[in-house]
Amino acid sequence: MRGRLVAERARGVCEYCRSQARFATHSFSIEHVVPLHAGGSDELENLALACQGCNNHKYTKTTARDLVSGALVPLFNPRLQLWRDHFLWSADFTQILGTTPIGRATVEALHLNRLGLLNLRELLYAAGKHPPLDSEDA
Ligand SMILES: [Zn+2]
Repeated sequence: MRGRLVAERARGVCEYCRSQARFATHSFSIEHVVPLHAGGSDELENLALACQGCNNHKYTKTTARDLVSGALVPLFNPRLQLWRDHFLWSADFTQILGTTPIGRATVEALHLNRLGLLNLRELLYAAGKHPPLDSEDA
């Protein structure tokens, strides 16, 4: 029930890499934005839809280093922050570019430009199915 609400809120799109569940070979996870062990809650405001790759790379991380400034910063929080405030698509829509320390650190920590994702984005873009509609614009 709660999982369905989280998936609907995210419109079936990974809240980190923007992958679409309908084109994924593995089911998406409901993940805790702030891990339970770090004091995160089980409530909707701490849950996010994540693809398996992002969920695995995020694991229990809450911070990562921004390679430009060298600062240790919190990972992107889809409940408190807007994706477009921290990321943008490359001109060909295959890569996610971090535009802030949080964005850059999250791209690295969650491997948001994994090879399989780059290839999938290229094909989906050619088919007119990428990038997904931005739920934040609705
Ligand atoms: Zn993802």
